[in-house]
Amino acid sequence: MIERDIAAPHVRGEQPHHFEILATDPVTRARVGILRTRRGEVRTPAFMPVGTQASVKSLTPDEVRASGTDIILANTYHLMLRPGLAVLEAAGGIQRFMAWDGPVLTDSGGFQVFSLAQRREVSEEGVTFRSHLDGSRWELTPESAIDLQLGFGSDIIMPLDELVGYGSDDAAQAAAMERTHRWLRRAIQRFAERQGDVAPASRPLLFGIAQGGFDPARRRESASFLRDLPLDGSAIGGLSVGEPKEVMAEMLDASIDGLPPERPRYLMGVGSPEDLWRGVAAGVDMFDCVHPTRVARRGALFTPDGRVDVTASRFRTHFGPVDETCTCPTCTTFSAAYLHHLFRARELLAYRLGTIHNLWFIQREMARIRDAIARGTFVEEMRAFLDRYRPADSGAAALQRQRNRGLRAEAGTG
Ligand SMILES: [Zn+2]
Repeated sequence: MIERDIAAPHVRGEQPHHFEILATDPVTRARVGILRTRRGEVRTPAFMPVGTQASVKSLTPDEVRASGTDIILANTYHLMLRPGLAVLEAAGGIQRFMAWDGPVLTDSGGFQVFSLAQRREVSEEGVTFRSHLDGSRWELTPESAIDLQLGFGSDIIMPLDELVGYGSDDAAQAAAMERTHRWLRRAIQRFAERQGDVAPASRPLLFGIAQGGFDPARRRESASFLRDLPLDGSAIGGLSVGEPKEVMAEMLDASIDGLPPERPRYLMGVGSPEDLWRGVAAGVDMFDCVHPTRVARRGALFTPDGRVDVTASRFRTHFGPVDETCTCPTCTTFSAAYLHHLFRARELLAYRLGTIHNLWFIQREMARIRDAIARGTFVEEMRAFLDRYRPADSGAAALQRQRNRGLRAEAGTG
């Protein structure tokens, strides 16, 4: 490992040592670079598969690595409830526990508290809630979110933020942003107390999160708030929560306008193939999303022509691979007809093979994106991808959910 002098949390201005921009696209805001963490380098733009419970569902770490993945994400909310901080500390950190030898980014737990937990109460101190597993009472504060992630051994740490849904009123959006900013100052304070004496190259990175709801001016304000704080990177939160795509694009642009350009930018919770190309064009360096792996387990597989439902009857006797252009272990070994059969029969191998393909597909797109930016052909390649790729429309998706419910009933598993 190269010993690099990663400076104390980055202060506005010069290029931080842990993030190197190798090339920028002359037309869009796309850029290609390297993010250096204490557990290895991440090629950016990067897609981070989600390992909610210290596992990318159905895959081994070797399979995740082989897909072209440099870094994975794990969820603090799930890990704090089970297996719990004590187990992860005793294991020597999440990487050793799950046998993943690369960097791990953890979220703060806030998103799941606001979406999964029961009887949630938010105060200035933090948020209390009941576990969705057993109803036990828990508390998360800006300080405890930092302590938990340091205890897990996370390499990129996210501060606790307050979220409001799409369609919530203006006053609620403004109040959540203000509280997110106050909580961020407390998170930075705690991080400095705990990590102030640690050699720069050995400590995790601390990102800030820009919120601001669905008002472009507020988005810019929240992003600008991060500029003057000592942080290693910027995340954009609170998007892809049900708003129309054009609203998301407008909010993303407004956020990126306000963020310091020299720090890595991470768009949270976004990761469909078309959103990755568009997000990179908007200036995003990092993405995470359950989408590619979650839809894979329903038989929705990516191809250069768009997402296909491999459970559809047209694949029953399709003995070629689901994606002719794909070099993943699924496509080079198994036919679409076999996948069709496995999904219809609800065989466990279906989930693995589907996940492998979608993850390979996404990481191949990320590699194409990075190469295109470096070669100066990003805009042409993005247009070629978007012209050809057909995202599943909502009607097809609803039909597929219906069919899967039927299949579950048939197989007697749900
Ligand atoms: Zn494949």
